[in-house]
Amino acid sequence: MLSPSIGRRAAVIHRRRTKSRGPIRHKPAAMVAIVAAIALWSLAIGTASAAPKSKPNQIKYEYVAPKDPAHQPIHDQMKQGRALEHLQELLSPLRLPYPLTIKVAGCDGTINAWYNDEVITVCYELLAEILKNAPPKDLPIGISRADTILGPVLAVFLHETAHALFNMLQIPVLGREEDAADQFTAYVMLKLSKDEARRMILGSAYHHTVQIPGPQVTVPVRSYSDDHSTAAQRMFNILCLGYGADKKLFADVVEKDFLPKGRAELCDREYEDVDFAMTKLVGPHIDKARARKFHEVWARTVSARRAKLTPAIAESGKQTPNPAGAQ
Ligand SMILES: [Zn+2]
Repeated sequence: MLSPSIGRRAAVIHRRRTKSRGPIRHKPAAMVAIVAAIALWSLAIGTASAAPKSKPNQIKYEYVAPKDPAHQPIHDQMKQGRALEHLQELLSPLRLPYPLTIKVAGCDGTINAWYNDEVITVCYELLAEILKNAPPKDLPIGISRADTILGPVLAVFLHETAHALFNMLQIPVLGREEDAADQFTAYVMLKLSKDEARRMILGSAYHHTVQIPGPQVTVPVRSYSDDHSTAAQRMFNILCLGYGADKKLFADVVEKDFLPKGRAELCDREYEDVDFAMTKLVGPHIDKARARKFHEVWARTVSARRAKLTPAIAESGKQTPNPAGAQ
């Protein structure tokens, strides 16, 4: 039986708070008027564009001091490990019309993350939840405890980045935006080195499995009305994209029946669809030279980063009780 607390948590995590989209809606009123006037003028002459010029290196970050003292170790370890700086580096090839800020902050007990008005907020409460859900030991499938922390943390930031891009770049989304954000997340992870991609995909899939109480669940029908897919669907979806991208790298996922064969047969098509959409819709907004440079640096330094971050993160997890009391 899927507990009510699990259902409630799944309903709020990663929800984007803003539904409207468009490049001018976030700007101050005076700026809106100026941009609107320019837009009309440009329509009239049919040449100049009112859109601000997009450019790379638009990611800002902020470590907000925690309100809850229990979150201080998470704040300190993230800062020492330069976690947001690394995310800034990861996202710096994106060409954006305005700066996008990624921040960690206390949320008064709410386990959540969201994008709103060019700011991604990830609550310390959600990070504490990820730490709490990590297994005590490495997993037999070749995934370390660190991967089950780093994978979902990266997934949360990428998922919210997807919402930001859909909004700031006015990228059309067919299907549910929450699913599209998960697809974006998996796709970016799969662009890392093979070893890193496998660790991040399986690590974040693990995070969804802890919300599934067993092979059989009973849930109220209304829980299917949520704009997010269920934890089980999100787990299968991310495994499917991994397997679709690289059947060899993720072969054991199907052999061990974590991903049923019936679904696995379709995964290369699913990955191709996502690859096509990402290439067509997001690709033009990526600074290719900067992305190439980033991947070289990331690949060279990722092991060192993990070695440095792992004991620190694991230690902060031990010190951090879950303030919301959720599972
Ligand atoms: Zn979302």
